[in-house]
Amino acid sequence: MNCPECDAALKIPEDADIGEIISCSDCGSEFEISKKNGVNIELKQAENVGEDWGE
Ligand SMILES: [Zn+2]
Repeated sequence: MNCPECDAALKIPEDADIGEIISCSDCGSEFEISKKNGVNIELKQAENVGEDWGE
């Protein structure tokens, strides 16, 4: 799996679960595991908490 931002290889632990945050060591972007289906993992950009007062 590569970083959607900079295409660097992301290290995702095998036991990583949905909701875990993966950070790219290259560009520093953070991604949350949004889906996991066997070896298929989908990432979404992790939103920084703090500014969002909704929900
Ligand atoms: Zn990156």
